[in-house]
Amino acid sequence: MTNTTLDNLITDLASGTVQVVDLTVNLDENTPVIGLPEEFKQSPTFKMEKISHFDDAGPAWYWNKFSCGEHTGTHFDAPGHWVTGKDYSDGCTDTIKPQDLVAPANVIDVTKECAENPDYLLTPEKVQEWEAEHGKIEKDSWLLMNSGWSKRSVEDFLNYAEDGPHTPGPSVECVKFLVEERDVIGFGTETIGTDAGQAFLFDPQFPSHHLMHGANKFGLASLTNLDKLPPKGSVLITPPLKIVNGSGSPLRVLALVS
Ligand code: MN
Repeated sequence: MTNTTLDNLITDLASGTVQVVDLTVNLDENTPVIGLPEEFKQSPTFKMEKISHFDDAGPAWYWNKFSCGEHTGTHFDAPGHWVTGKDYSDGCTDTIKPQDLVAPANVIDVTKECAENPDYLLTPEKVQEWEAEHGKIEKDSWLLMNSGWSKRSVEDFLNYAEDGPHTPGPSVECVKFLVEERDVIGFGTETIGTDAGQAFLFDPQFPSHHLMHGANKFGLASLTNLDKLPPKGSVLITPPLKIVNGSGSPLRVLALVS
């Protein structure tokens, strides 16, 4: 049996014609975690504890145990994360269809806009401007927002002020457009969550959660290296851990780029 497509992929990976770009941040105790208003329960940071390290506890082996919230570091938001997506039978980390975890990516560069305005909101007009240059966003593909946010210090990454965090994200209209007009598989971002820092003021609140997950679509947060992807043509591999009834999980996000 021959399978030319996969044979070519293996050859192209070996020769470097297809490259693998890691879109994942390091996961350790310093990995920033989203903070919620104090009336809500907070998500814990990543913690790791040694079980053994070639010592009396395990002379020939090294291993650790770790704990963290499901939404820590580079992580996947499943539809079941949000109240609007809670009833999908395929909406948690163990029930999402595997074929939905490999999908093409569109990358929109708004680093300049976000450097000028940390509250920058991606609009349908901006997306359509991008499409006029690079081509239409195809059904079941990702839209990734390159805000340049992964290059910031932790303090500037979270960018808290007295009136809440100031970080970029999509407008309500933009999320509606991506869901209803483009039928994307999900929205990904370099910021700590898929919604803008001030999205608690929007109607609906947190549209990237409310509307994307309400339509059984996904989120990817705290991505990095989006500047290493072409606007179009890369393929994302995004399997979250198969946590039973999980609302999401940290994951390694890889992009195949030719
Ligand atoms: Mn999340």
